[in-house]
Amino acid sequence: MDFEIPEEIRLLQDTIRRFVREVLHPVEAEIEEADQIPPHIVEELRKLGLFGLAIPQEYGGLGVSLLAQCVVFEELAKASLCFRSRVGTNNGIGSLGILFDGTEEQKRTYLPKLASGEWTGAFALTEPNAGSDAAAIETTAMPQGDAFLLNGRKQWITNADVAQVFTVMALTDREKRARGGITAFLVPRDTPGLTITKPHKTMGFRGSHVCDLIFEDAAVPVANVLGKVGDGFKVAMKVLDRGRLTMGAVCVGAAQRLLELSLAYAKRRVQFGKPIAERQAVQFMLADIATEIYACRGMLHETARRVDRGERLTKEVAMVKLHCSEMVGRAADRAVQIHGGMGYMRDCPVERYYRDVRLIRIYEGTSEIQRLIIARELLKGS
Ligand SMILES: Cc1cc2nc3c(=O)[nH]c(=O)nc-3n(C[C@H](O)[C@H](O)[C@H](O)COP(=O)(O)OP(=O)(O)OC[C@H]3O[C@@H](n4cnc5c(N)ncnc54)[C@H](O)[C@@H]3O)c2cc1C
Repeated sequence: MDFEIPEEIRLLQDTIRRFVREVLHPVEAEIEEADQIPPHIVEELRKLGLFGLAIPQEYGGLGVSLLAQCVVFEELAKASLCFRSRVGTNNGIGSLGILFDGTEEQKRTYLPKLASGEWTGAFALTEPNAGSDAAAIETTAMPQGDAFLLNGRKQWITNADVAQVFTVMALTDREKRARGGITAFLVPRDTPGLTITKPHKTMGFRGSHVCDLIFEDAAVPVANVLGKVGDGFKVAMKVLDRGRLTMGAVCVGAAQRLLELSLAYAKRRVQFGKPIAERQAVQFMLADIATEIYACRGMLHETARRVDRGERLTKEVAMVKLHCSEMVGRAADRAVQIHGGMGYMRDCPVERYYRDVRLIRIYEGTSEIQRLIIARELLKGS
């Protein structure tokens, strides 16, 4: 394994690291309170090009490698996870469908606006009766003239409150479902018949919101079909496959911040006449967090490099999502333990991370679904 990060990525890493420390850390508490990222911070994220990391330069993005994206997201996750979430859909589930399967016209219409952060993209697959079993969606898209009429409800869609365009999966053939019966559509926010609900109240991720989308005879032009009619399930799975890897980077970055906070606290908290960092029980927790970060960063970077070289690594990407998200859960638990009662207080960042990282074992495919994917791939090859 090659752990060296190329010089140009190192420079990007330094820039984001400084930005996180100087600009994002000071506003974390305010966001937690207000549940909103201040507009001037969104503007700063735009200026740094963070909305267009994954979008090629010809469409206005930075077009950096997947390894570079992982390095940037690791740094960004050292601040409140709402920042990564705000830029995350434009670099992942809200733009990749267009990048992978869009027509040239669709790419030219949407990607530059998503890359600059002028627009936000979102991805709508989940429904009240279709979560892990994505093929069970009930939203329909029936052809009518040169449009499709969409009817149904999409649930818990990240950034729906701020998005201008949604990649929406709908049934075009009830019988065929995942085997040719689901189609992906690009749906602008102002489409008549589309209602976006108020944000749900959630356990964490304050400053980042999820809403439902309700479609009532919403007419979407045929020109907005993404990929071929019937290929929507494939479009969705390709997008999710890629998104999962950068989620591993978020976990590594969050765990690293938890380690840094825990080290600092253990050195300054004195009990029984000594800093708690001098107690072996506390040292062991710090050692376990650090060891697991090292292992996860290794598997993350190795997988990113291989995907950058053109390999399709469904099994390894699922392994990264599974292992890194479980790892950060353990890191958050240990960090709270090291902080004692302080770790339970709302104004302590580890308390926020404890709630926020819980989500990562659930969305973009639960841990159980990652295990199913890994096992399926293993059995296929045996
Ligand atoms: C904050 C948040 C943001 C989200 N953002 C988006 C978004 O932007 N776009 C979008 O489309 N969706 C989004 N989602 C939805 C998310 O992807 C789903 O919640 C997730 O896929 C799990 O589906 P579910 O919640 O319906 O759980 P379920 O599928 O009902 O699962 C419940 C439990 O059963 C387990 N389970 C289910 N099937 C199996 C099986 N076959 N074998 C073993 N165990 C199984 C699961 O692992 C889980 O533990 C978001 C969700 C949240 C909470």
